[in-house]
Amino acid sequence: MTDPITKIALVTGAARGIGLATTHVLIEQGWQVAMIDRDGDELTTAAGKLNQASPFICDVSYPDQVDEMISSVRDTFGRIDALVNNAGVADFCPLEQTTFAQWRRVMETNLDGVFLTSQASIPALRETRGAIVNIASISGLRASTLRVAYGTSKAAVIHLTKQQAAELGEHGIRANCVCPGPVRTKLAMAVHTPEIIAAYHDAIPLNRYGSERELAEVIAFLCSERASYVTGQVIAADGGFDSTGVGLPALREG
Ligand code: NAD
Repeated sequence: MTDPITKIALVTGAARGIGLATTHVLIEQGWQVAMIDRDGDELTTAAGKLNQASPFICDVSYPDQVDEMISSVRDTFGRIDALVNNAGVADFCPLEQTTFAQWRRVMETNLDGVFLTSQASIPALRETRGAIVNIASISGLRASTLRVAYGTSKAAVIHLTKQQAAELGEHGIRANCVCPGPVRTKLAMAVHTPEIIAAYHDAIPLNRYGSERELAEVIAFLCSERASYVTGQVIAADGGFDSTGVGLPALREG
């Protein structure tokens, strides 16, 4: 009898936060993970604690680095079964004050990075009939103040996912998108003021922030064969934020 094949997932932004939690859940479910991050120190420390993971330092906004990283992952593991485009940066600033440099910094990682990493992975994903899971945000589903760059980058990721599903389906590659609600990671805590935290609690039916692991479970499901007929979908793991309209704070105060 031959050994069952170990599936390989590539997770970007894997050094901490939602990407690291996704790495843990995938490993628990039998995957081996190529952990990608531009923060070499944090990545090496995180990967050093895991048996089923290998670190690859790469800034996903640079085409040359992405091509080199994908080659190294393929040389190391011989295959890629799932790609999780999770690396992201946030910048909250009013529209009129957002500089072009701020706009570009957000777009380079959040949008260019997803495009580049996905494109470079296609040959490997064609071989395995694999899956892409892109991490957008509720800020890409619903507009809000301060998020002209961040929200627009994430709305573009939602549409990019649908483009990928449309074109890659014939190769058996699925592409889906997860839109996290607020999670207390380094990224969120750098931009969530006390007022924003209170506003989120008001607007979320489950009345709390999510955990990294709650996001990771949804991401791992979409990577897996359990989601084999799911493609082109956008799933908000957000405590109900996206589904809700007016009235929630008034109900809570009553
Ligand atoms: P985080 O800051 O904890 O982790 C992000 C990781 O991505 C870091 O390790 C960072 O070094 C890495 N990274 C950033 N830019 C990179 C680049 N160009 N190349 C390689 N690595 C890069 O953030 P998080 O909250 O875990 O965010 C993960 C994803 O979830 C992001 O796409 C974010 O926009 C999205 N998201 C987060 C929240 C939230 O509330 N935390 C809500 C909605 C969406």
